[in-house]
Amino acid sequence: MQKNLLKESKDSIKLATDYLKHGKLVSIKTETVYGVACNPSNIIAIKKLYNLKNRPSFNPLIIHVNSVKMASDFVDFTEDAKKIAHAFWPGPLTLILKKKKNNLINDFSISGLDTIAVRMPNSQIFLNIIKNFGNPIAAPSANKSGYISSTTAQHVLDSFGSKVDLVIDSGKCELGLESTIIDLSNEPYIIKRLGVLDIKKIYKKTGINVKTERKNTKNINSPGQLEKHYSPKTPLIMNIKIPKDGDAFLSFGKNYIDNHKPSLNLSSEGNLKEAAYNLFDFLRRLDKLSMKRIVVTPIPKHGIGITINERLNRASS
Ligand code: AMP
Ligand code: MG
Repeated sequence: MQKNLLKESKDSIKLATDYLKHGKLVSIKTETVYGVACNPSNIIAIKKLYNLKNRPSFNPLIIHVNSVKMASDFVDFTEDAKKIAHAFWPGPLTLILKKKKNNLINDFSISGLDTIAVRMPNSQIFLNIIKNFGNPIAAPSANKSGYISSTTAQHVLDSFGSKVDLVIDSGKCELGLESTIIDLSNEPYIIKRLGVLDIKKIYKKTGINVKTERKNTKNINSPGQLEKHYSPKTPLIMNIKIPKDGDAFLSFGKNYIDNHKPSLNLSSEGNLKEAAYNLFDFLRRLDKLSMKRIVVTPIPKHGIGITINERLNRASS
């Protein structure tokens, strides 16, 4: 067993908190994907994190909190933001808000922007660690920049090996897709990253309108959104119903229970939630086989299927 891997326990939570206080990097499960956490006020820790991920310095980190109150120390938590947080936190929704002058978040962790992306994760272990740490925690997804996100502790080890100080194994992430990101720092409010939660649900629960970003907008303050992302090393092709020899086949639904090898089915029941849960795990598994291509059957474009298609699209570009 890896020396830097521990199961979730009181002891590992305590160790994680001590590590964060000493500028170390700790991978922790959230309900979306595994994050790699660091103290956002410690520039050395932040630089270590960017190096570990090979993340461009212009791509800001999401700051994790355990309450609106904690976030209000470093962002301007508007009335609309409060309404939305009240409805959806803790949960897979990140809010971009205007930065307040503060000593908690070093400029380097937010790429010098005047806005900060904040989220309260629905992950008991993460919330416990924030509580013990007593301050907000920065945590991007625990994968090399551009590669597939991690939804298990093993994925984190596959990505970073012993270069991450500690990985806490809390099992597989319940949702399997990164948080929805909405920008509330200016009106109209805009969705910056699709996730499990869509703007219709936000409107239904709060009456607040969030718009889809116009294409070709270059003044985007979410640089991560422009890149090739979520990509396996193996070329990925979408909307293929019949695989060829040498292909790794990723299918969805009961029409594709066939004899091709290797193949994995995201959900033989045709359940999109299950497909989201399996997506990154199965992509990583098929990528490890180093076949010529990974080919993926059509995935329905409704509900979470829209987000799954978006991730696959970027993985294939
Ligand atoms: P990850 O690091 O994988 O969790 O992704 C975080 C995403 O949040 C990236 O796409 C960042 O560009 C985006 N992000 C973080 N902070 C901001 C911000 N202040 N404004 C816009 N996007 C942000
Ligand atoms: Mg990421």
